[in-house]
Amino acid sequence: MECKQNQMLSNCTCTYTSCSKRGKCCECVMYHRKNGELPGCFFPPEVEKTYDRTIERFIKTYQEKK
Ligand code: SF4
Repeated sequence: MECKQNQMLSNCTCTYTSCSKRGKCCECVMYHRKNGELPGCFFPPEVEKTYDRTIERFIKTYQEKK
Protein backbone atom coordinates (compact mmCIF):
# COMPACT_ATOMS: atom_id res chain seq x y z
CA MET A 1 0.00 0.00 0.00
CA GLU A 2 1.32 3.38 -0.99
CA CYS A 3 1.76 6.05 1.70
CA LYS A 4 -0.69 8.93 1.25
CA GLN A 5 1.25 11.46 3.32
CA ASN A 6 0.94 14.33 0.84
CA GLN A 7 -2.79 13.80 0.49
CA MET A 8 -3.22 13.54 4.26
CA LEU A 9 -1.09 16.62 4.85
CA SER A 10 -3.46 18.77 2.84
CA ASN A 11 -6.30 17.68 5.18
CA CYS A 12 -4.34 17.97 8.44
CA THR A 13 -5.83 20.53 10.84
CA CYS A 14 -2.97 20.38 13.33
CA THR A 15 -1.36 23.80 13.81
CA TYR A 16 1.87 22.40 15.26
CA THR A 17 3.54 22.80 11.90
CA SER A 18 7.03 21.74 12.93
CA CYS A 19 5.85 18.25 13.95
CA SER A 20 7.43 15.53 11.81
CA LYS A 21 4.27 13.40 12.10
CA ARG A 22 2.02 15.81 10.20
CA GLY A 23 0.46 13.92 7.31
CA LYS A 24 1.61 10.58 8.75
CA CYS A 25 -1.67 9.78 10.47
CA CYS A 26 -0.55 6.30 11.53
CA GLU A 27 2.42 7.74 13.44
CA CYS A 28 0.32 10.60 14.80
CA VAL A 29 -2.34 8.26 16.20
CA MET A 30 0.26 5.88 17.63
CA TYR A 31 2.13 8.72 19.36
CA HIS A 32 -0.91 10.30 20.96
CA ARG A 33 -2.54 6.99 21.85
CA LYS A 34 0.62 5.93 23.69
CA ASN A 35 0.35 9.15 25.73
CA GLY A 36 -3.36 8.82 26.55
CA GLU A 37 -4.23 11.47 23.99
CA LEU A 38 -5.98 11.97 20.66
CA PRO A 39 -4.65 13.57 17.47
CA GLY A 40 -5.21 17.30 17.04
CA CYS A 41 -7.79 16.80 14.28
CA PHE A 42 -10.26 15.43 16.86
CA PHE A 43 -10.53 18.86 18.50
CA PRO A 44 -12.29 22.02 17.35
CA PRO A 45 -9.84 24.79 16.29
CA GLU A 46 -10.08 26.78 19.54
CA VAL A 47 -9.03 23.72 21.56
CA GLU A 48 -6.58 22.32 19.01
CA LYS A 49 -4.48 25.47 19.23
CA THR A 50 -3.95 24.93 22.98
CA TYR A 51 -2.09 21.68 22.15
CA ASP A 52 -3.94 19.96 24.99
CA ARG A 53 -4.64 16.63 23.30
CA THR A 54 -5.69 14.68 26.40
CA ILE A 55 -8.73 12.41 26.39
CA GLU A 56 -9.99 14.35 29.42
CA ARG A 57 -9.93 17.59 27.41
CA PHE A 58 -11.68 15.86 24.50
CA ILE A 59 -14.52 14.65 26.75
CA LYS A 60 -14.81 18.04 28.48
CA THR A 61 -14.91 19.84 25.13
CA TYR A 62 -17.77 17.80 23.75
CA GLN A 63 -19.70 17.72 27.03
CA GLU A 64 -19.64 21.53 27.01
CA LYS A 65 -20.94 21.57 23.42
CA LYS A 66 -24.15 19.68 24.34
S1 SF4 B 1 -1.58 15.96 16.30
FE1 SF4 B 1 0.36 15.70 17.41
S2 SF4 B 1 1.53 14.10 16.37
FE2 SF4 B 1 -0.17 14.74 15.04
S3 SF4 B 1 0.75 16.21 13.70
FE3 SF4 B 1 -0.13 17.37 15.38
S4 SF4 B 1 1.48 17.56 16.95
FE4 SF4 B 1 2.11 16.02 15.45
